[in-house]
Order: sequence, then C-alpha cells, then structure tokens
Amino acid sequence: SNSTMAEFDYLFKLLLIGDSGVGKSTLLLSFTSNTFEDLSPTIGVDFKVKHVTLGGKKLKLAIWDTAGQERFRTLTSSYYRGAQGIIMVYDVTRRETFTNLSDIWAKEIDLYSTNQDCIKMLVGNKVDKENERVVSKKEGIDFAREYGCLYLECSAKTRVNVEQCFEELVLKILDTPSLLAEGSAGVKKNIFKEIPPQSDASTSGCCSW
Ligand code: GDP
Repeated sequence: SNSTMAEFDYLFKLLLIGDSGVGKSTLLLSFTSNTFEDLSPTIGVDFKVKHVTLGGKKLKLAIWDTAGQERFRTLTSSYYRGAQGIIMVYDVTRRETFTNLSDIWAKEIDLYSTNQDCIKMLVGNKVDKENERVVSKKEGIDFAREYGCLYLECSAKTRVNVEQCFEELVLKILDTPSLLAEGSAGVKKNIFKEIPPQSDASTSGCCSW
C-alpha cells in the first residue's frame, strides 16, 4: 500500500546461506529480537523484517533464512532473486562448513544471483567456542579477498559482532549506486509477493534498534 511505501527509503532483501547448523537462524533471531535460544530445525524458507536507520536512510530489511531447506539442496532461483546482500555463514569449529562455501554455496550464488553487484559478507560464527576453533581468521580473510566479500567473525550466542555483520553489509549496499537505482530488483517493490506458500507470515516481526 502507499502508506507502507512511505515508511522507508529503501527495501533491501538480504539472504543467509551456508550449511545446516552453522547458526543462520540463531543469527537472524539474535539480530531481529536480541535473544538467543536453542532452535529446533524448521522446514521451509522463512524471513524476518527489521526496520533500521543507517547512513541517514530509513531501511526496511527483509532477511531470508533457509530454515533447513539447505539440507535438501532445494534452494532455488526465487530465494536468490532480487537480493541486494548475501551473508555467507560458516562455523569456525567445523571446517567442512567453510570449504562448502567455496565448493557449493559460492557456485549457487553465481548461478542464481540476479543483481550483478550484490554485496557478499563472509561470516565466521561461533567464536565464543574459541578453544574448538579449526578455521583461522587468516583463512577467512583470504577467502573474503579471493571472492570479493566483506568479512567478520561473530557469535550469534553472545551477540558479539552480530549487529556489525548486518550494518557493514547494509552500509556497503547503500554505497553501491546500481543497487539503489529506481526500478532495480527488490528496491521499493513488493518482494513479499515472492514469498513461497509454505512460509508462515505470522513468524515475521518488526522491531528497531
Ligand atoms: P542453522 O541450521 O544454520 O540455522 O543453525 P541454527 O541457528 O539452528 O544453529 C545450530 C546450532 O548451533 C543450535 O544448537 C544453536 O543454538 C547453535 N549456535 C548458533 N549460533 C551459535 C554461536 O554463536 N555459538 C554457539 N556456541 N552456538 C551457536
């Protein structure tokens, strides 16, 4: 509706991708509702909405989570379509979640991403388990350099760097004119039309910093 349109300058679609168990849902929950809880795996693509003001702009962030679908490798083009930002998550205590980002997830982004300039953020999660770490910071930095991503390590559990992950990604999007252009995919457009039927709109919430 028109009244909804007036409430924000830009609508951004952000995605969380990465292996099952790396902490995507927890990261999303931690960012949108400031809480941490043990989540039982759910099925079906899910998304949450958060309103923020950053870089002097009122933003409506629609953040999509795979909610377990990644286990079946059934993420499709509609999940990626129109995204301005992608958060690629691995678990610093599980090496295969890191190698799968280059072996599987980066290839999928290339295949399905519709915005050429889409900003990517590499996130190493679970740094609160420092004694179990197997992927070094240096490896993360090298990956990010190779794939042209932003990079941060965080803990969805202790909330260290959680807001920074989303903030840095969004600021970089705001700094990329092609992603803000009138009529570019996802901007000021009703992306909620694309939500697959199995997702439950009642799980979406709104809150602000
Ligand atoms: P997803 O499958 O990628 O969505 O992962 P979940 O968000 O479901 O998290 C998988 C498991 O890791 C859950 O038991 C979470 O409680 C736990 N978890 C998520 N983030 C962290 C974190 O930063 N630190 C620790 N110690 N556990 C976490």
